[in-house]
Amino acid sequence: MTYKSLIAVIVVVSAAFACKSSNTREPGMTFTQEELVILNQSDSVMYLTVIGDKSDSLILRKVSRDFTDEELQSKEFKTLARNLLATVQDPSQDGVGISAPQVGLNLRMIAVMRYDKDDKPIEPYANVHITYLSQNIKSGPEGCLSVPNYRGIVPRSDSIIVSYYDINSGTHKTDTIGGYTAIIFQHETDHLEGILYIDRADSVFFSQASADERKLFEQQGAYTKPAWWPYK
Ligand code: ZN
Repeated sequence: MTYKSLIAVIVVVSAAFACKSSNTREPGMTFTQEELVILNQSDSVMYLTVIGDKSDSLILRKVSRDFTDEELQSKEFKTLARNLLATVQDPSQDGVGISAPQVGLNLRMIAVMRYDKDDKPIEPYANVHITYLSQNIKSGPEGCLSVPNYRGIVPRSDSIIVSYYDINSGTHKTDTIGGYTAIIFQHETDHLEGILYIDRADSVFFSQASADERKLFEQQGAYTKPAWWPYK
């Protein structure tokens, strides 16, 4: 190999590497291009992923990653926190919690209605992890914006400890939480592990739609049915 052809190989290989990295990451950012498309396409209410849609279900079943320190400081991060709140509080949804996979992003952010605080605010939490689950289990009804028209009876710990990045103060915090708020935290952090309440439920029942709508939903068949799923 001549000196010139060696240089040519190095240039081609470098270009290939540069091309590969620019396809997935913006310079100075760590979000992928795919994530940036979703992060930048909405300025309020976002598209909700549903388990009956095949490509949505792949997102809902994937484990979400933490934000990097750089991402925590980005404008996209702050926009996502604001848009998650707008989406869960949209009158057509009227939810008590939401997670980033439900708006198409496998990133570790949730929003939770704080029943344990005055005025019951819905607050966003990033890089949230449950570090303790009490042994004391209670079962109660749950629904999910991504599993429309169903509800289930789900056993959950009545007390938990969560660690998270607090968006308002910009610091990492740990909280002990109980009651219904603890149930919402468990439901939403499950989403970040690719787990849906129907996986944990003792029973699931059809809540609203007609028999025809139920049949259509089941025919879409993209979700994973647990062994006890009552509708064949
Ligand atoms: Zn849910």
